[in-house]
Amino acid sequence: MLGAPVDGLSLDQFAERISMQVDRGNPCFVVTLNPELLYRAQHEKDLLDVINRAHLVTADGIGVVWACRVSGRPVPERVAGIDLMMRLLECAACKGWRVFFLGSAPGVAEEAAARAERMFPGLRVAGTHHGYFPDRENHEVISRIAGASPQLLFVALGSPRQERWIDRHLDLLGSVVAMGVGGSLDVLSGKVRRAPEWFSRRNLEWLGRLLNQPGRWRRMLVLPKFALLVLIKYKLRLGRFSV
Ligand code: UDP
Repeated sequence: MLGAPVDGLSLDQFAERISMQVDRGNPCFVVTLNPELLYRAQHEKDLLDVINRAHLVTADGIGVVWACRVSGRPVPERVAGIDLMMRLLECAACKGWRVFFLGSAPGVAEEAAARAERMFPGLRVAGTHHGYFPDRENHEVISRIAGASPQLLFVALGSPRQERWIDRHLDLLGSVVAMGVGGSLDVLSGKVRRAPEWFSRRNLEWLGRLLNQPGRWRRMLVLPKFALLVLIKYKLRLGRFSV
């Protein structure tokens, strides 16, 4: 899709694949691809390269699901980062995997950890760290994560910082499945409410999110541009056109 790989898997299938990676002890980088990230990657070649180096890419955002359909390579469903994270937390509690939460404002990852441990009895949160650290502290953050040896690392540094961060440091983090989760720790901690299911059932989660966080409107201006780009490339088949 627009130069990025998107895996045509359902939520269950992603969870299964990730489970296999954990069992084999393979480092694994998961991108949850939404239209904003994919649109940005059209203008930042290095970001498109980062997405292409990911081991698994989910179609997060109804815009990407729609675009895959228009391009003639449909995916089975939307797989939102937060839904995959919740599913993996459930698996982690069952299988005894350790998890690490990196990102969000100070205190949020701790609160998310406490809530996750209540929601999924038996879950082992091996560590947390907030997401407002400068690059010069990368080394310290990485040592902390590697020292906790988690099987799952959820990175909430905002997109595309989180994808770039994982791509750059995966080799130093040990045998871990690392996934960018955007604002999901805010939701898990209870700091931000997820849009009611009514919205996601009608493919309107983006609207629910906008109503919850009106400050995001500017970021959403990219959606019509993304849609236009998809139509131009896959309906009109004007490969070299750019929006
Ligand atoms: N964030 C962070 N460090 C930063 C920038 C953002 O930890 O330097 C956090 C922010 O607090 C929020 C999350 O990253 O919890 C991402 O939020 P956003 O809603 O922008 O992400 P999206 O889901 O849209 O990718």
